[in-house]
Amino acid sequence: MVEYIFIFLLGSCVGSFLNVIFYRFPLGKSIIFSQSACTSCNSKIQFRDLVPIFSWIFLSGECRFCKSRISVTYPLIELITALSWLSICLLNPVYTQEFVPNLAYIFNCFLISLVIIIIYFDFNYLWIPKFGLDLLLSLGIIFTILKLILGVSNGNIIFFSFICYFLFYYAFEFIRKFGKYIYKKDVLGKGDSYIIASNSILIGIKGNLMALFISFVLASFIEVLVRFVFKRSINAKEFALGPYLLIGFLTIWIFGFNEIWSIWQNFIYSFYANFI
Ligand SMILES: [Zn+2]
Repeated sequence: MVEYIFIFLLGSCVGSFLNVIFYRFPLGKSIIFSQSACTSCNSKIQFRDLVPIFSWIFLSGECRFCKSRISVTYPLIELITALSWLSICLLNPVYTQEFVPNLAYIFNCFLISLVIIIIYFDFNYLWIPKFGLDLLLSLGIIFTILKLILGVSNGNIIFFSFICYFLFYYAFEFIRKFGKYIYKKDVLGKGDSYIIASNSILIGIKGNLMALFISFVLASFIEVLVRFVFKRSINAKEFALGPYLLIGFLTIWIFGFNEIWSIWQNFIYSFYANFI
């Protein structure tokens, strides 16, 4: 139990750091070398008010000095990060049974935090910082090297990862440019091509195709629903594809291609059995 609490608290602290990135990076401010201050009255935030999630609750979402509202996004990001770190543990109990710094656990925590960063920026600004895309590719490269070192795969994996990356990158760049030619505006972002290409290193060709299928089904369903509910026209605003791409990717990353594929097959069989 104590290890779960520890991981939750550690995750919430990282979430707090993500908030710093989300707030300061678009403003071009230093992320490490300056103390946090209230965005309204500029008072330095005291140490006791920096406790992730709980400080926001104790302050009832208001600045200690000027009483201006503090966005609920801050504790929410901290909570989401903490719960993501915790779920990685719960999905793989082996991580806590041997409570030692586990390479796979650290890798997954880093990956999930990066996914939160990319989703946040793409969702809010329709733009992904270059460092986010570079880190995603780096994780793909680290994953390939780890597989090689741990003997899970042979030398071919480097060649295979390389092929995967360029195959998906150029395929989607082609679709993106074709879309731009047809619609005379950007229908996909260049960042999307980078995300799809990096994902392919982590989940392979079959996994990535399945992830894309999940992403596009989810994106069409949610985007149409949102526009229907809020009565906005379909073309009213460009939408961020990145979050859907990463949700599709995470589904395959967490459950594996074979698991999702057999669920899909069962669905198709029962569809045929019941309706045809
Ligand atoms: Zn204030």
